[in-house]
Amino acid sequence: MTISATLPTAVSPAAGIQEKGSIELRRVRKTYGDVAAVDDLDLTVQPGEFVTLLGPSGSGKTTTMMMVAGFEELTSGTVLINGEPVDKLPPKDRNLGVVFQSYALFPHMSARENVEFALRMREIRPAERRRRAEEALERVGLANMGDRRPSQLSGGQQQRVALARALVFNPSALLLDEPMAALDKRLREQMQEEIKTIQRSLGISVLFVTHDQDEAMSMSDRIVVMRDGRIVQQGAPEDVYAHPATDWVANFLGDTNLLPCSIVERSGDTAVVDLGRLGICRVQNRGAEGDRYAVSIRPEHLTFIPAERDENCAKGRVVSSTNLGATIRHRLLVGEQELLMREMSPSSRTAAELDADVCVGWDQEHAQLLVLDA
Ligand code: ADP
Ligand code: MG
Repeated sequence: MTISATLPTAVSPAAGIQEKGSIELRRVRKTYGDVAAVDDLDLTVQPGEFVTLLGPSGSGKTTTMMMVAGFEELTSGTVLINGEPVDKLPPKDRNLGVVFQSYALFPHMSARENVEFALRMREIRPAERRRRAEEALERVGLANMGDRRPSQLSGGQQQRVALARALVFNPSALLLDEPMAALDKRLREQMQEEIKTIQRSLGISVLFVTHDQDEAMSMSDRIVVMRDGRIVQQGAPEDVYAHPATDWVANFLGDTNLLPCSIVERSGDTAVVDLGRLGICRVQNRGAEGDRYAVSIRPEHLTFIPAERDENCAKGRVVSSTNLGATIRHRLLVGEQELLMREMSPSSRTAAELDADVCVGWDQEHAQLLVLDA
């Protein structure tokens, strides 16, 4: 039996979430005293989907994962795996592979024994255990390293052992809570790609946790942005990045320029807004409702233009220009408003002399109406 033989090979939307590999949280809540660590969370991971919980420290990501894995009891709500409620099941009967910070390798066991341990708990015979442990170690690039203790392995290799241990019993889904947090940048990026490769080749669902927006952007089919135990926005990475619902989400997912505005008119996907001295402007509208509004334009979506034009432009002064190697960062002052601008390096040297008067423009599709809530 190979690992892939027992896993779904295709995502079939028609079959809904009863299919193997689905995870569903319904109104899940967890309180510690007066603190709601997780607050009425509704979330579904479809079979084969890679979903990332992204949020700052303390936003409830780990608590959510602990409840799905069965290490924490829910205060209220239900968790379903493969369409079945699992609230009464202990962790080992939920058939989920987990890599958590709190679930370390046993230091006195070899890598192979650590991986086999997951099978021993499931009462698999020794010969079969050994074969499957070797196979799982090979899958994470650790063939021939099975005899080493964790202390004889690098941080990255230890994380691979943890991953092998999570995969070895053919789980229906993987739960990964900041699995690369302790690794340096290059190793992180390498592991990110390897986890994606393994996930695709097995067709396995993954619920992943990170506080790193680049990691979330590069790995996920869907990003779920969390704040204070709640979901504030979710969607495909490029969609959440391009259409943040609030200034908090926009800032959490990178740099942005926020231009305070009032709404003149909204219809469908567009809105007409008044930007004060920057004039009247047509922007993207996703229907977010609040008390105060702004238009968000990412720094990479501002460009120098030769002269003022009727719309989607601003006239200002260059306050600073910094060459960052691959990109140049400019700060502009438009009246009282500071604008941040990022360009690929070669094009702009002449356009951005210090104190120069310049015009910058943007495309309507890159100007997003959002709610100020931070
Ligand atoms: P994250 O993983 O996003 O950093 P956590 O889920 O660890 O967030 O924590 C969410 C909130 O719940 C925080 O305010 C944290 O202090 C609180 N919390 C988590 N675990 C416990 C616990 N065992 N006892 C009390 N408070 C807790
Ligand atoms: Mg955490």
